[in-house]
Amino acid sequence: MKRRFTMKFQPESTKKPLTYHLIKDYNLKVNILRADITEGQEGRLLMEVEASKADLDKGLKFLESEGVTIIPLDQHLKWDKDNCIHCGACTAVCFSGALQMDRNTWEVNKDSEKCIVCGLCVSACPLKIITVEFR
Ligand code: SF4
Ligand code: SF4
Repeated sequence: MKRRFTMKFQPESTKKPLTYHLIKDYNLKVNILRADITEGQEGRLLMEVEASKADLDKGLKFLESEGVTIIPLDQHLKWDKDNCIHCGACTAVCFSGALQMDRNTWEVNKDSEKCIVCGLCVSACPLKIITVEFR
């Protein structure tokens, strides 16, 4: 199974090789999509992880025991679909294909699994109805 998470690290954890342990000790395939880490300060990683459910559960438990806060990715992109005028501006900048125009209904659809939380759609939307929280 593949899952995307934001990992929020406490300052003391930014010095530890946690991703190394995830790969070596918990057999996780880790793909870091975005990183905001400065040693000695709170850090954040946007990460895609591939593993069996059992290994993933163990790896996430290990991170939590190290004081890492894990936030599933789908909590981060907020789209006020009810107020959307389906102009398509957001789909033009969404390279991952998470926001796409349905050519039959001419309505925009969102596939949260594909979103890499790049934030480009936020500034592209003229109505400012998309927000991304990178906590
Ligand atoms: S945050 Fe980026 S990947 Fe996600 S929907 Fe917006 S443009 Fe697409
Ligand atoms: S840019 Fe905004 S208004 Fe236009 S389709 Fe996307 S979410 Fe809807």
